[in-house]
Amino acid sequence: MFNPYKFIEKKKLGLAHTPNEIEDFIQSFLDKKVEESQMSAWLMAVFFNGLSKIELNQYVKSIISSGQQLNFSNLNDFIIDKHSTGGVGDKVSLIAGPILAACNCYVPMIVGRSLAHTGGTLDKLESIKGYQGNIDINQFKKNVRDNRISIVGQSKEICPADKYIYSIRDITSTIDSFPLICASIISKKKAEGIEGLILDIKAGNGAFMKTIEDAKKLGKSLTELGNSLSIKSEYIVSDMNQPLGRSAGLWCEIKESIDFLKNKDKDPNLCKVVFKICSKALKMSNQKEGKKLIKKALDSGAAYEIFERMIKSHKGNLEKSYKENIPKYSFTFKANKDGFLNKIDTEKLGYLLLEIGGGRKNSKDKIDPTCGLSINKKIGDKIHLGEPIIEIFGNKKNKIDSVEKIFENIIFISDSKKLNKISTIYE
Ligand code: URA
Repeated sequence: MFNPYKFIEKKKLGLAHTPNEIEDFIQSFLDKKVEESQMSAWLMAVFFNGLSKIELNQYVKSIISSGQQLNFSNLNDFIIDKHSTGGVGDKVSLIAGPILAACNCYVPMIVGRSLAHTGGTLDKLESIKGYQGNIDINQFKKNVRDNRISIVGQSKEICPADKYIYSIRDITSTIDSFPLICASIISKKKAEGIEGLILDIKAGNGAFMKTIEDAKKLGKSLTELGNSLSIKSEYIVSDMNQPLGRSAGLWCEIKESIDFLKNKDKDPNLCKVVFKICSKALKMSNQKEGKKLIKKALDSGAAYEIFERMIKSHKGNLEKSYKENIPKYSFTFKANKDGFLNKIDTEKLGYLLLEIGGGRKNSKDKIDPTCGLSINKKIGDKIHLGEPIIEIFGNKKNKIDSVEKIFENIIFISDSKKLNKISTIYE
């Protein structure tokens, strides 16, 4: 008979579980024979004492088998996904996904909603009028087969154990545990049925990993776990000390992604991250001259065509969105002196977006699809008194009216060009 008390005690004392014990624990939790309080206690014990590779491997397998595992082996081309640990203005999935699909890959992508100060790809997609991100799993499979890409939210069919455990971690201060983060991310990726995975680990003041060292550590743990489960996995570490690209928010990020895919306007930093991720992915899929293929996918319009087809297959209406997603109110933050843009508190900026309607404080909060910001300057840029730096917009007048004061603690202008070492990509 499985004894949850003894199981928790073992981890509390720093001892290792056997694979069978882990399997029993997760199954008993799903059968409601392990209480939420017991799961919480075990999660905290894991936070302090960790999981060995064998334990982690079994924990992931148990989470995967709590739901369906997709199988795309009938498709002949490489099946790949990319995943970001989250940031502000991070729209890379919306751009890299269609590019990879236009370069002979299949991209089944399961994405999340906003988390703390970071934006969620699903929320951004749902700013497109009509977009259905929670489609039936068979429709998801069909969309991947027909259009080479489909982007959906996590359903109850995929890793339901992770969904329950995540909601407990969220309220018991056990999110920031490396083994639990790795298991949560990689289990969902394995269940997607992918062969390859590129991880974009964000580092900086707007990321969950504040230092490059921690980001590398997380990247190594994630790729090690992915590879142990036969997903070819690689990571990059990219900068999150300022929003990525020219905009952050909801519909505005979709517009920026469309402009990128149409080759109209490509922010250089965003371009570097997109090319790096796509090049790695194409190399992994054994395709040569990745950069040339990416350029061709953009120049020929193939990547945009795939994006448009994907949106239609999810019942999204871009034309209507352009007409209706026009924010009513805006505020422009202008420089109060000459100098150089020295620092942006990116986490605060992310929370500011949440505050004006870009994220949720409670699960029932309604998101304002029009809200967001555009940023005209990058760190290190010369600034003149009165120059606009950030424009913030949305449909909630009282919120937009109250943002002015907050900016003073977000944007920092120095008299001299301080050599704060920021690169777009660190590894
Ligand atoms: N994203 C996930 O899916 N899980 C985590 O634990 C953290 C981020």
